[in-house]
Amino acid sequence: MAFNFKNFVKILLEKADNWRNYCICIACRDVNGRPNALLQKFPFKTERVKNHLKRCQHFKNKNPELFVEFFGSEAERGESNEFDENIVGSKRLRRESIGSAYSSITSISWRSMYSFMLIMLNNFM
Ligand SMILES: [Zn+2]
Repeated sequence: MAFNFKNFVKILLEKADNWRNYCICIACRDVNGRPNALLQKFPFKTERVKNHLKRCQHFKNKNPELFVEFFGSEAERGESNEFDENIVGSKRLRRESIGSAYSSITSISWRSMYSFMLIMLNNFM
């Protein structure tokens, strides 16, 4: 993983511990304002930043393609599992059913389809 998560957070002066400062998500700050983003500050640590960005709707809205770059492969591994195609049931329905449906009908360009999907979802939400 060579992604530089540093570009998506603002590192604060406040220390989280001896080694790390707190940071806030830039996308959250832009949407909710700095005071609100500060309420959601987290230690500047790769795992923490990654976890935040992965769940962050604002980051996703702002950088749908980057979101896929960062996290698409994880989703892809789960969704395009061949074995999964044989499982019909609650497990599959609970997950992103739209994604599964598309992944089973197209192997041409899963990645661009996924971006498209994110954009569609964002527009409807
Ligand atoms: Zn965020």
